[in-house]
Amino acid sequence: MRHMNWRSLFIPKLHPVYDRYRIVLLRVLLVVVLPLLATEIVAAFYLGEMLIGYVELATLALVAVFFKTLWKQTHLAGNVFIVFSTLISVTAVVVALESPAILLFFLALPTFYIYFLGLRKGLAVIFILVVVLCVSTVSFYLGNGHLPWPQENLIFAVLVFIYITVFTAAFERTNKHLLAGVREKAEKDELTKVSTRRTFMELLEYELKRVRRTQGTFSLVLWDVDHFKRINDTHGHLVGDEVLRAITETCVASLRGSDIVGRVGGEEFACLLPDTGKEAAVHVAEKIRQAIARPRPDTPCCSISLGVAEYSPGDTPETLFQRADQALYAAKAAGRDCVMSG
Ligand code: GH3
Ligand code: MG
Ligand code: MG
Repeated sequence: MRHMNWRSLFIPKLHPVYDRYRIVLLRVLLVVVLPLLATEIVAAFYLGEMLIGYVELATLALVAVFFKTLWKQTHLAGNVFIVFSTLISVTAVVVALESPAILLFFLALPTFYIYFLGLRKGLAVIFILVVVLCVSTVSFYLGNGHLPWPQENLIFAVLVFIYITVFTAAFERTNKHLLAGVREKAEKDELTKVSTRRTFMELLEYELKRVRRTQGTFSLVLWDVDHFKRINDTHGHLVGDEVLRAITETCVASLRGSDIVGRVGGEEFACLLPDTGKEAAVHVAEKIRQAIARPRPDTPCCSISLGVAEYSPGDTPETLFQRADQALYAAKAAGRDCVMSG
C-alpha cells in the first residue's frame, strides 16, 4: 500500500482533466451553502438548538474568512470545509430531524466525496462520516430508547449507501487507470519516453511565463542526430530506433531531474534548462555531446549537433526556437558533432 500521511487528506489534488468541471461545481456548492447555512442558523436558534446554531455560525464565519481560497480551490481550507460542514450537517440532521426522507441526502455523499476528493481521500472522509453517523445513532438510541428513523428505512439506506460507495469507488478507479493511460500516450513519446512535442511546447510556454514573472532565465538546447539517414540505411530502421532510444537515455541520464527533454521531430530533440544562462547551457550541451559520443555498446556509434539559445525578454516559444535552430544549423554547417550558441 502506498504511503499516506494525514496531511494528504487536506491537500486538494483535483484531476487535471476534469479540473474545470469540478471547480465550477465546487463554486456552485459554495454559493449554495451560504444561504443554506444562514437559514440553518436561524432555524437552530429559533428551535432552541443553541449548540448547533453556534457551530453553524462558526462554519459560516469559516466560509466567509476563507471564501477567496475556497473559490480558487487552491488550499487545504476547501477540504477542511467540506469535512467540517458535513459533520455539522450530520449532527444537525441526526439531532434536529427525524424524517426518513433525510436519509436520501446521505446516499449522495459517497459520489460527492469520491468525485471531489479522489478515491483515497474520499473514502477516508466517508469512513469518518460513517463513524460519526454510527456514534450519533447509538447515542440517539441510548437517549431515546428508539432509533431516529424506522428500522426498515435505516437498513435499506445502509445497503444502498454501501452499494453507491462501492460502485462509485470502482468507477473512479477505472476512470483513473484509463485517464493515466491516455495521458501517458499524449504526454510521452512512445519510442523514447521523453515528452512529446506538444507537451514540450506547453512546458516551454509555462517556463516563459515563469521567468517573465520572476525575471529569471533559462536556456533551450536543440539537437539533431548527425547523418541519421545513413544509420537507418546501413543498419535498418529498427537499429535506428534503438539508437534514438540510447541517445535519449544517455542524454536524460546526464541532465538534472528538473531539466525537460522533448522529442520535437523525427531525430530532433529539445531540452529546457531552467535557471541556466547561456554559458552554463553550452557547458551542459557539450556534456551531452560527449556522453553521446560513447553510446551503448549494442548500438552503432553516432554523433549529434547542438544549438543553444538563452531566453531574452520579449521572447515567444517561436523566437526562442528560431534562435536555437539557427545555432543548430550553424553547428551542422561547421562540420557537425559540435555545439553552437545563438
Ligand atoms: P543531418 O546530419 O544533416 O541531420 O543528416 P540526417 O541524415 O540526420 O538528416 P535527414 O533529415 O536527412 O534525415 C533524418 C532521418 O531520420 C530520416 C528519417 O527517416 C529518420 N527518422 C525520423 N524519425 C525516425 C524514427 O522514429 N526512427 C527511425 N529509425 N528513423 C527516423
Ligand atoms: Mg539529422
Ligand atoms: Mg533532422
